[in-house]
Amino acid sequence: MTTYAAPLRDMRFVLHEMCKAGDTLGTLPGFEDVGADVMDAVLEECAKLCEDVLFPLNQTGDREGCKFEGGKVTTPKGFREAYRQYVEGGWCGLTAKPEFGGQGLPEALDYLVAEMVASANVSFGLYPGLTQGTILALTALGTDEQKTRYLPKLISGEWQGTMCLTESHAGSDLGLLRTKALPNGDGSYAITGTKIFISAGEHDMTDNHVHLVLARLPDAPEGSRGISMFLVPKFLLNDDGTPGARNALACGSIEHKMGMKASVTCVMNFDSAKGWLVGEAHKGLAGMFIMMNKERMFVGCQGISQAELAYQSAAAYAKDRIQGRAADGPARPDKAADPIIVHPDVRAKLLFSRSVTEALRALGVWAHLQVDVSHKHPDAAVRQHADDMVGLMTPILKAAGTDYGSEISNVCLQVLGGHGYIAEHGIEQIVRDVRITQIYEGTNGIQALDLVGRKLGIGNGRLFTGWVKDVEAELAGLQGRNDLREFVAPVEEALGRLKAATQWLTEAAAKDANARGAAATDYLRLFALTALGWMWVRMAQVALAKQGSGDPYYDTKLNVGRFYMTRVLPQVAALDATLRAGSQSTMAMAEAAF
Ligand SMILES: Cc1cc2nc3c(=O)[nH]c(=O)nc-3n(C[C@H](O)[C@H](O)[C@H](O)COP(=O)(O)OP(=O)(O)OC[C@H]3O[C@@H](n4cnc5c(N)ncnc54)[C@H](O)[C@@H]3O)c2cc1C
Repeated sequence: MTTYAAPLRDMRFVLHEMCKAGDTLGTLPGFEDVGADVMDAVLEECAKLCEDVLFPLNQTGDREGCKFEGGKVTTPKGFREAYRQYVEGGWCGLTAKPEFGGQGLPEALDYLVAEMVASANVSFGLYPGLTQGTILALTALGTDEQKTRYLPKLISGEWQGTMCLTESHAGSDLGLLRTKALPNGDGSYAITGTKIFISAGEHDMTDNHVHLVLARLPDAPEGSRGISMFLVPKFLLNDDGTPGARNALACGSIEHKMGMKASVTCVMNFDSAKGWLVGEAHKGLAGMFIMMNKERMFVGCQGISQAELAYQSAAAYAKDRIQGRAADGPARPDKAADPIIVHPDVRAKLLFSRSVTEALRALGVWAHLQVDVSHKHPDAAVRQHADDMVGLMTPILKAAGTDYGSEISNVCLQVLGGHGYIAEHGIEQIVRDVRITQIYEGTNGIQALDLVGRKLGIGNGRLFTGWVKDVEAELAGLQGRNDLREFVAPVEEALGRLKAATQWLTEAAAKDANARGAAATDYLRLFALTALGWMWVRMAQVALAKQGSGDPYYDTKLNVGRFYMTRVLPQVAALDATLRAGSQSTMAMAEAAF
């Protein structure tokens, strides 16, 4: 069995002590009253729901999976009841606008809620996670009527939101999609096409579904500039807003998958289904990106959640399982062997997992505070800078959160040896569940291209230079701190490499069309390791200041941070070398030779 206790101590540390969320949120209109007490109460309530209700359904949901019969999807036993409790707790609308029934709480807080929910039950968490993206897109782009009729039920969680982008021939390249939208002449459109891989496309936990569907209008230009977004409900609404006649859409089948088996993945057929344009015609992809950016951060968080879950299970096992003796003499002479946690190799696996997971959590919370600032700060320049930081960090958190989520889950499985491979221990489920996070919401290869091909170029490098300036200013302010040198110096070195690599990449791309693509994944990892190192500098500062407080948490924090600095961050040197190798060895071989 896996074990999970919500890491509330670490979450509070990141939120209050490291990020000083209260100070930032206090400057934002609407968040003046969101103090540490409010945030802690929300986190504690969520922890109870996750530990008592959602986590016990994680393994059973995986074993049972979703069932498809007569066009209907049945979620695993216990899911409907758990979802009802989730709705009653108001968890779906935590950050949504109060005028539509939301609680108007900060994104930074919601991010930690999402992590706990996903750790407890990643399949369950995807259902409300998708609805949140739909809420965001409709809030930003919907007409007043669309908002009034659909938002309250999505925010309460009574209705499910989905995103219908992918078609069999159009995955990463959505410009190829063929679903059609023909005007009905009454302001509505007839949507026809087949979407595949649609998460939560059909199920039994909600009274209605609100699909956001990408389709082409008759006069649409070719490619991604000719895509529009439509709101297509499963049940058309009566005048009083209740679900009425069935719309012309149906789930054709569901996928049989490697993991996340309790999260249904549907083929959705739209057969002249009635829909309404959301936002401007032909600007649907940009509109969908409002949703996708939120979802990308959310998926990054799913990766982190699985790393946390795997770590907790592996750490508990390593303290219990006895095999072999410690190299420096028996640790438990009373036993036939020592617990495997005495072995350096096992410890290194656990410390790698923990040092990366904690830094990713810190980066995620910091980035979501930037989301809050970008939405609400009274000064436009401050909002823009925060928005820049969010844009820069989105592909990094998505790809690094999920790549490490997968790697850490595997490393933690290894800690259990053969028992990790056996289903009853549950850790093999984590490895299977987390794998999709590297693929959906834009594969991690596409995230890396987004970083090097788009984000670095925006405003002549404004995002990158803005972030570097902030980090350099922070590190410069710590120059006299000898006690922090072991944290500051390696990050200065990594930042120097990152800056030089960025410059190299710009120059190489001017001469070689494949330079960016060949370097992108290594560059993203180099960037992520540096940003995580920066988080460790911040965490170490707090931990050093509190070291004498008598709370052993701070000593542990420093130990974990020291492992990151000495055993993880140095990987930037290898990444620097490999990305600078250029595209030649990658592109030289003829296609036929593969
Ligand atoms: C379980 C599951 C749930 C999903 N949920 C949803 C959902 O709710 N809604 C939805 O619309 N979609 C959903 N998807 C679809 C998912 O987003 C796509 O699978 C994903 O975007 C990749 O598309 P693809 O599978 O067609 O792969 P492809 O686009 O064919 O890519 C194959 C490989 O080629 C690489 N590649 C492609 N183009 C490039 C390029 N230009 N440069 C470099 N490398 C490239 C990719 O990185 C990848 O490694 C889901 C998929 C799954 C499996």
